[in-house]
Amino acid sequence: MQRPSRRLIAAFVFVSLPLGTVLLHAQARSALPTSTSTAGIDPVLFNKSVDPCTDFYQFACGGWLAANPIPADRPRWGRFDELSEKNDVVLRRVLEAAATGRDPASKKIGDYFATCMDEQAIERLGAKPLEPDLKNIAALTTMNRLPELLAELHKIGVGAFFSFGSEPDMKNASMVIAAADQGGMGLPDRDYYFRDDPRSIEIRKQYVDHVTKMLTLAGVPEATASKDAEAVMRLETALAKAALDRVARRDPERIYHRLTPAELQKLTPNFEWARYFKGIGGPTITLINITEPDFFKAFNQVIASTPIDELRAYLRWHLVHANAFMLSTAFVDENFRFYSATLQGVEEQRPRWKRCVSYVDADLGEALGQAFVKETFGPQAKADMLKMVADVENALERDINTLDWMTDTTKQQALAKLHATANKIGYPDKWRDYSALTIERGDPIGNSHRANTFEFHRQLDKIAKPVDKSEWSMTPPTVNAYYNPLENNINFPAGILQPPFYSAGRDAALNYGAAGAVIGHELTHGFDDQGRQFDASGNLRDWWTAEDAAAYKERSSCIADEYSKFTAIDDVKLSGRLTLGENTADNGGLRLALMAFLASDAAKTATTIDGFTPEQRVFLGWASVWCENRRPEYERMQAQTNPHSPGRYRVNGVVSNMPEFQKAFSCKPDSPMVSRNACRVW
Ligand SMILES: [Zn+2]
Repeated sequence: MQRPSRRLIAAFVFVSLPLGTVLLHAQARSALPTSTSTAGIDPVLFNKSVDPCTDFYQFACGGWLAANPIPADRPRWGRFDELSEKNDVVLRRVLEAAATGRDPASKKIGDYFATCMDEQAIERLGAKPLEPDLKNIAALTTMNRLPELLAELHKIGVGAFFSFGSEPDMKNASMVIAAADQGGMGLPDRDYYFRDDPRSIEIRKQYVDHVTKMLTLAGVPEATASKDAEAVMRLETALAKAALDRVARRDPERIYHRLTPAELQKLTPNFEWARYFKGIGGPTITLINITEPDFFKAFNQVIASTPIDELRAYLRWHLVHANAFMLSTAFVDENFRFYSATLQGVEEQRPRWKRCVSYVDADLGEALGQAFVKETFGPQAKADMLKMVADVENALERDINTLDWMTDTTKQQALAKLHATANKIGYPDKWRDYSALTIERGDPIGNSHRANTFEFHRQLDKIAKPVDKSEWSMTPPTVNAYYNPLENNINFPAGILQPPFYSAGRDAALNYGAAGAVIGHELTHGFDDQGRQFDASGNLRDWWTAEDAAAYKERSSCIADEYSKFTAIDDVKLSGRLTLGENTADNGGLRLALMAFLASDAAKTATTIDGFTPEQRVFLGWASVWCENRRPEYERMQAQTNPHSPGRYRVNGVVSNMPEFQKAFSCKPDSPMVSRNACRVW
C-alpha cells in the first residue's frame, strides 16, 4: 500500500494520511441514488428557508444535510462519498467477476481480491505472516546491521524512521533523483506529540495503549509490551521534535536539500548509507534530496543513543502497524479502534468488501482502473472536459492580462507558464505493466509485501532518468483531481467526471460551476503561494519581479487571515497558512469557471431554470459538490492536518469574496455573504 511521494502534489480533496491504510478510503454505506436532473439542480439539496445571502452553504445544502446523517462507519458523509460509493459498487462487480479466474487478463486483481475476502483463511493465519520479519528484527543485536534491516523493511512498506523513493529534481525538473523524507511517526502529525490541551494528552495516552496492544498481539509479553510502547513514544517524540510542521513543509525551499551520498554520509555518520543503498537494490545514486537535514540529524542521534532493545521495539511496532490491515480480526479491530474510532469518531468498521476494494485500488490501481473506465468513461465526457479546460484556460489568460497589480514582465512569465500547462483526462495513455508482480491466491501478506516491493523498485528505477509526465499519481476510479507543480500539469481521473461534478447533456451552468471549477481550482494551483514558485518547466525558480511578488503576498495574506478566523470546531480555528494554497485555488477556480461559462456558447442561450438564473446555477453547481456532514473528532483532526478547508468554508469563504455572487443573488452590502474586506488573488 505504498504510494509514490506526493509531497508537492496539490489535490482537490484530501484522500490519504500517513496512517497506514485504515483512513485511505471512505467507509461503507449502501448506495444512495445520486440525484441528477438533466436541466436544473435537484431541489432536495436546498433549504429554501435560509436566505442565500445569509448562509449560502445552508441554502444550497441544508436539505441534503438534514436528510443525510453520517453512517456509523464513516467519519464524514458528503457528496464526494456518495460518488465514491457508486464507484466502489462498480469496482466490486469487476473484482467479483475477476475472482472467478476465468479471464487471464484480470487474474491478478481477482486473486488479490479473493485472497483479501477470505477472512477465515486470514483468521487461521493469525500473526504467523509476521514471523519471518519479526525474526529479522529480533536478530538485530548490534546497530551495525540496521541499514540492511531498514532496507528490507522499507521494501515491504514498513515506514520506520524515514521514507525513501524518487522524485523530479525541483531545480532540474526534467530529471528524477533519489529522495528521503521525514517519517516513522505513528500519530497523524508531528504536532500531535507536543500539543498540551486535554484532548491531545488523552490521544497520546491512547496511542501508547494502542502500541502496547498491537505489540501484545504480535506475541510480545504484556509487561514488556507496555514498556516497549513507552520507548516507542520517546523515540517518535525525538523524531517529531526535529520534523518540520505542515506549514513549513509547504515551502519548497525548506524541503529541498540536494546532497551527494558523501555529503549525506557526513550528515548522518552513524548510519551507513552505502549499505542501505545496497540493501534496497536500486541503481547507483549520485544525488539525493534530503528533505529535512535536521530531521536526519535527529535520526542519526536517535539510532546512536537508543538502547538496541528499544530500537527493536520501535521496528516491531512499525512492522505490525504497516501490516495490521491484512492480518486477523484482532489486529484489524485494534487498528480501527485507535485510528478510526479514537481519532475520528467512527463507530463501526466498514464492510470487508469495501476495504478489499480499496486495497486492490492502492496496490493494483491501474489494472483495476482499466475495467472501471470501460464502464464509466466515454468519449463525450472527454470531449466536454477538453472544451471546459480550454475555456477555463482562456479565462485565466484574460484574468492575467487585466490584472492591475502585476507588471507586464511578470505577466509574460505567467502567461508562458499557463500556455505550458498540460492536462490529462480520465486515465493513462499507457497502462502500468504489472507483469513483474506476483500475486498468489491464499497469501494475503505476501501479496501486500510483493506489491510494496514492486512499487518501491518502480520508484527506484526512475532515478537518474528523465521524468515521465504521462504517469498518474491517482488511480482512474479516484474521486479527486490534482496539479503537479514539478510537471506543470492538471489531472482529472475518470472517477470524478460524473455527477454531481459533470453529466453529459446537463445544464451547462451546473457543469461549469462544478467540473469547471475543479479545472479552475487545479489550474490556479499553478499560481498559488506554492505553485507560483515553480516555472513553466516545473523548476523551482523565481520568475517574479520583487514588486509583483510583494503585491502577490499582500493579496494572499488577505486570504490567509480571512480563513484563520473560521472556526473548525470548539476553539479550533482553521490554519490560514496551512490551507492557503487550497483556498487560493478555490477562490480563483470558481471565478475562472464563472468567467469561462459566461464566455461560452452555452451562456448565450441559457435561460432561467427552476427560478435560478444561469449565474446563480454556476454558484449552486459549486456548492452542490460540498454538502457534507462531519463528526467532531474528524473535524478536529482535519483542521490540524488537512490543507483543505471544510466544505462549508469552501463554499461560503469563496462566495463572500466574490462581487459576482453578490450581484447574482442581489445581496445587500451588509449581508453575511458579502465580505467587507473581500480578498482576491486571481
Ligand atoms: Zn487543491
